[in-house]
Amino acid sequence: REQRIKDIYALLEEASEYYQQQLREHSTKDSAVDYLKNRGLTGQFAARFGIGYAPPGWDNLLKKLARDNDTKLRLEQAGMLIHKEDSERYYDRFRERIMFPIRDMRGRVIAFGGRVLGDEKPKYLNSPETDTFHKSRELYGLYEARKFNQSLDRLIIVEGYMDVVGLAQYGIGYAVATLGTATTAQHLERLLKMVPEVIFCFDGDQAGRKAAKRALDTTMPVITDGKQARFLFLPDGEDPDSLVRQEGCDLFEKRIREALPLSDFFFKTLEEGADMSSLDGRARFSNEALPLIDQMQPGILKQMMQEKISELTGLSLEQLISVNNLQEATSP
Ligand code: ATP
Ligand code: MN
Ligand code: MN
Ligand code: MN
Repeated sequence: REQRIKDIYALLEEASEYYQQQLREHSTKDSAVDYLKNRGLTGQFAARFGIGYAPPGWDNLLKKLARDNDTKLRLEQAGMLIHKEDSERYYDRFRERIMFPIRDMRGRVIAFGGRVLGDEKPKYLNSPETDTFHKSRELYGLYEARKFNQSLDRLIIVEGYMDVVGLAQYGIGYAVATLGTATTAQHLERLLKMVPEVIFCFDGDQAGRKAAKRALDTTMPVITDGKQARFLFLPDGEDPDSLVRQEGCDLFEKRIREALPLSDFFFKTLEEGADMSSLDGRARFSNEALPLIDQMQPGILKQMMQEKISELTGLSLEQLISVNNLQEATSP
């Protein structure tokens, strides 16, 4: 098994080199190069992220890398080949796409994301879960962020590959993206071990706002005093990549500085649906908020958020705790 996993890492690295080479040499490379140029990507940053090109065709990678049957099997296990059902045939998973290698924290290629050059669907294709790739743990750009920053004070969590690359190119080289999944507690625990602050910055659309609310739910039980989570909301129709290209680094950094602290986003979200001028509304608000605050780790932030409920309702913390059967913020 050890050896098998080693082989898989080696094949994924070879695949990444192959895709980068195709971006330089393939007879149809112009379509890919032009696409990247049109999006404003520079050669320097394409190289930093190891961006490549999977040319059109069903068996380019297969022919290049699958020396024998054993290797074919490894490439399938690595998520790079698809085994055609009820046959001996294999074909390339990624065809005619811009290729983003996904690295683990040690810099090993563990998977790929591939984007079509046009508007076809699906726009992005990601490697499947494999023995080396666990979407709920890995983040695109984390290896590069650590490699290219001497020290990191914060990390920004964005939705997409191009958001990570675009921000980096504009001097904000500390963004990471989840890989087509929601942010998990595992992601957050990992990031918060490295930096004191994470900032969520999802797209300015319905899906992005929903993702922010979900991220809030995931973050509350994980965050501890001394760590901070904030939320940055973008104008409608923008994502980090489109916005930083439009307004530049300074204005984007200003948005980062002004991002909403977790507690502000939490209370703002709950207040949106509540009539805070009536007792009934405030009671309902409190009944919704308290169980969520209750999931937080004991500490000052938790206590302060409970106290805010206490102010809103006019009930003491002791009363709130006994009514709701909650944990005290300071209990071990
Ligand atoms: P681009 O700027 O290249 O058009 P994007 O990153 O802005 O792409 P979004 O539609 O905002 O694209 O999606 C955000 C992220 O969600 C993508 O980067 C990708 O990781 C993931 N994603 C989007 N569409 C798909 C899909 N069809 N299958 C799997 N993952 C997807
Ligand atoms: Mn989007
Ligand atoms: Mn985009
Ligand atoms: Mn987007």
